[in-house]
Amino acid sequence: MAAAYSSCHSRWRRLLVWLLGGLAVSSLALVGVGALFFSGPYRTPTTLPRQPVIDLHVHTAGIGAGDSGCFISRELERSWKFNLYLKAFGTTREELAAKGDASLIGRIAAEVAGSTHVTHAVVLAMDGAVNAAGELDRTATEIHVPNEFVAREVARHTHLLFGASVNPYRKDALARLDWCATNGAVLVKWIPSLMHIDPADERLVPFYERLKHHQLPLLTHAGQERSFTHADDRLADPERLRLPLRLGVTIIAAHIASTGENEGERDTDRLAKLMAEFPNLYSEISSLTQANKLGYLKEALTRPEFEGRLCYGSDFPLSNTALVSPWLFRLNLTGEQLSRLSALANPWDRDVALKQALGVPDTVFARTETLLAPRLANRQSRRE
Ligand SMILES: [Zn+2]
Repeated sequence: MAAAYSSCHSRWRRLLVWLLGGLAVSSLALVGVGALFFSGPYRTPTTLPRQPVIDLHVHTAGIGAGDSGCFISRELERSWKFNLYLKAFGTTREELAAKGDASLIGRIAAEVAGSTHVTHAVVLAMDGAVNAAGELDRTATEIHVPNEFVAREVARHTHLLFGASVNPYRKDALARLDWCATNGAVLVKWIPSLMHIDPADERLVPFYERLKHHQLPLLTHAGQERSFTHADDRLADPERLRLPLRLGVTIIAAHIASTGENEGERDTDRLAKLMAEFPNLYSEISSLTQANKLGYLKEALTRPEFEGRLCYGSDFPLSNTALVSPWLFRLNLTGEQLSRLSALANPWDRDVALKQALGVPDTVFARTETLLAPRLANRQSRRE
């Protein structure tokens, strides 16, 4: 009995040794393979700029709580995306209803104030679609965040800036634009594919002229849009931006027009071609570390067309979801970097540190301030 036990015991021990040995060999092999394919950052990392780092792409949202005037479509509210966004904002529907939509902007302000790297965030209003009478079309609008709400709430926080949004088909579009300019807007944001705006429409010339008059850059979504439930991606074709570019408007085409295509050509390629033609065209690197956009940050940092044309944005709250993780870049970052970056609690510090480690140069982080400089100066003089 004892002998049988002992022989059985030693058989198990042999099996265990064999298993552990196998595990050790295979993990060594994995490390070896990892080391073999390790390609390092996309560019040699530089230090962060000394001047303020401004994030020009930060979203807020609301359900109308606290008389914010915000709303989202019933379809978006029911979709899984809404819960993902609420979680990324660090809130719940109940909390929003109880504390009001402004509490989200308060949360953003607190996180930005706690960030080591980011000094200011541009919080974006979001205009809706417009009907034939030039009025807000609630049934065709998926999300609406009014300018008045954002302007009022960001004014309460030193680390926040006002990103306006005006649908140029509104009958009073120019008056609204003037209002935003007088109330501290540092840029105007469009999602043409969602707001049903055709940037190539000649009827928009007066709007473009007014943008130029106010020195307001137009941050416009380009490329495929999948953050909402419907979008007409043809309207986000970079080629449609030729009209405002020719008129001399400063255009910042978001996310290097990542993931879509038009007329059989990648939107990013279409944007890259325009860069050579128009010195007033820029892009930004928000959302390019998301799991659904792998490869795009490398493209942004290594294609010569984008050299000198990129600025920094995060696309918060998406930057604070499981869509972004340093572990997606294990062939570009060392084990030490992976654990250090994953341990950063502040969403803005995590975003900046990850992008910097991957090789986003200091000039890109600094450029947002340069692009917004005329508006920041204007805002400053208004305060004095
Ligand atoms: Zn965005």
